[in-house]
Formats: sequence, structure tokens, C-alpha cells
Amino acid sequence: MCDECRDGPHADVERVLISSEQIDARLCGMALEIADVYAGQDAGLTLAPVMSGAIVFVADLIRKLPLKMKLAMTHVSTYPGATTQAHPPRVVVEPVGDLAGRHVLIVDDILDSGSTLRRVRAMAQERGALSVRSAVLLRKPGKAPPDVPVEFVGFDIDDLFVVGYGLDYDDHYRNFPHVGVLRAGLMP
Ligand code: 5GP
Ligand code: MG
Repeated sequence: MCDECRDGPHADVERVLISSEQIDARLCGMALEIADVYAGQDAGLTLAPVMSGAIVFVADLIRKLPLKMKLAMTHVSTYPGATTQAHPPRVVVEPVGDLAGRHVLIVDDILDSGSTLRRVRAMAQERGALSVRSAVLLRKPGKAPPDVPVEFVGFDIDDLFVVGYGLDYDDHYRNFPHVGVLRAGLMP
């Protein structure tokens, strides 16, 4: 862990699960996988990051992607406030940008039950996307339902509640540079 991460709110993180260096290296690999699929396609590519959790992931990923693309941010809320119990996903802000006739790549921080991606995939299809694929940084095991395909996965992790690199607890810790686990007692 770097020096500046030892103090302040970052001290709430008990351990680093995946370091920013490991994430950076994996993103280079993911970018190659994604570029392989979309390179040379006539219709345009639109990345649809699911805010706010995907904010850091998408910012790093797009700078490694040698593809012409547009961004259409969408905002979905699943874990409102200080809860770790998922609620049915609610689209808070519709994607800004046209998805019709575009190849849409949904970008999200983590695949847990799959309900968020299912909701966003349906929305992209309703809006006339030419194709819909998904990229997630993290995937929890044994939960991803078969009707929610995810073509690009950064890391498979254990079934833990993680924060950092965009992922929050009660809207905090998104700025922790690594993916980590909070100290016991900080979550209900
Ligand atoms: P799903 O809809 O697949 O159950 O959950 C996906 C969404 O729930 C993610 O986009 C993320 O916002 C939130 N989520 C799921 N698991 C975690 C976790 O371990 N930590 C945090 N911070 N958010 C999570
Ligand atoms: Mg999310």
C-alpha cells in the first residue's frame, strides 16, 4: 500500500484484495480482448458505464482502448445509502447519448446477482442497440445467472463486500486506489 493510503479514510480498509498495479496490468489485457472483438466493425461503439461504481474503471479502461468510441453514462442505484442489501436496480439517470444502431458495451464495476446488468442490457436493447456486451472489473462466484452474459471479466473474487477503485460503502471509499475489504465493524 502506498504511503498516502495509510492515513485518513483509507485507514478504514483492512486489507488490499487487488492492488492498483494488478488492476492496471489486467486492464491492458482486457483492452486487447475488447479491441479484438470491436476492431474493424462498421457501426460505431458506445461504452455505457454504470455510474457511479464504474467511474474509475471506465476512466482507466478507455485510455487503453485504441478504438473510436462514444460514451453514454447511465446511473443505476442498487445499494442505496448504508446498506449492503441489494434492492431492485433503479435507473436513476437514463443514458446520455444515442444507443440506437450502435454496438453497446456496458461497463460495470462488479457482477454480483446480475440484476443491474440485466436491467441495463434490457434498456440498451429497447433503445435499438445493434449488439450488447458487458465488461466488469470484478465477478463474484456462483452468482452470475445464465441469462446475463458477461463477455469481459477482470478478476473473479470471493463473495466479499469490497470497496475502492470506484466501489463504495455508503458512497465513501470510491477514491481508495485499490480494491479492498473494510475493517470489521464498519459495516452493519
Ligand atoms: P448486482 O446487481 O449484480 O447484484 O450488483 C451489481 C451492483 O451492486 C454493482 O454495480 C455495485 O454497485 C453493487 N455491488 C455488488 N457487490 C458489491 C460489493 O462487493 N461492493 C460494493 N461496493 N458494491 C457492490
Ligand atoms: Mg454499480
